[in-house]
Amino acid sequence: MEKQSKAKNQKFSNFIKKNLYLILMIVCVIAIATMVAVTYALKQKGEVNAVNVAGKEEPQEQTEPTDPTEQTSAEEVLFSLPFEGETVGVFANDTLVYNATLNQWATHEAYDVAAEAGTEVKCVYDGKVESITTSVLRGTEVVVLHKNGMKTIYSLLGSDVNVTVGAEVKKGDVIGKIAESGTFERHKGPHLHLEVWNADGEKLDPVQFFESTDK
Ligand SMILES: [Zn+2]
Repeated sequence: MEKQSKAKNQKFSNFIKKNLYLILMIVCVIAIATMVAVTYALKQKGEVNAVNVAGKEEPQEQTEPTDPTEQTSAEEVLFSLPFEGETVGVFANDTLVYNATLNQWATHEAYDVAAEAGTEVKCVYDGKVESITTSVLRGTEVVVLHKNGMKTIYSLLGSDVNVTVGAEVKKGDVIGKIAESGTFERHKGPHLHLEVWNADGEKLDPVQFFESTDK
């Protein structure tokens, strides 16, 4: 019985030994295979990188040096006055202003300058006429597109405008005339309602862009 057991143990031990060798061999083979695979992969990657560096075929991700909308600053864009006149409305995007005509409180994201009907309204900056529309509320409205996607919007004009859509306009060019056309700010009398938008459609205070100190 004891002998038999010994023999069995011996057999088992041998079996384990054999298997251990086998396991060790398999582990070795896997390790070598992994090393070869990793080396090969690294080499491939290295070659690809080398090609990119040498040939510059794949341009690296290019980041715009500056956001064009950020260039729209008071220093770079200087408006001339549309005409000399009394300010009858200032820019207010965080406070509500009472609109007596519409009988409501609202923000006023524009600059209003009073003038007699018929007063010529000049373009405040070089650009291109983007649209000319007419509505009951805003009268005839001319939108001029400037560099960097900036826009100036001239509302409450007469329908007899001096420009056409697509026309290039220079600072100082007459684009239209003041008229008692729109109804949305009638309580202020005839005036120009001037808005300035940046490329993102945000309304900016026009006054900050005027080059004249007479604001
Ligand atoms: Zn206004």
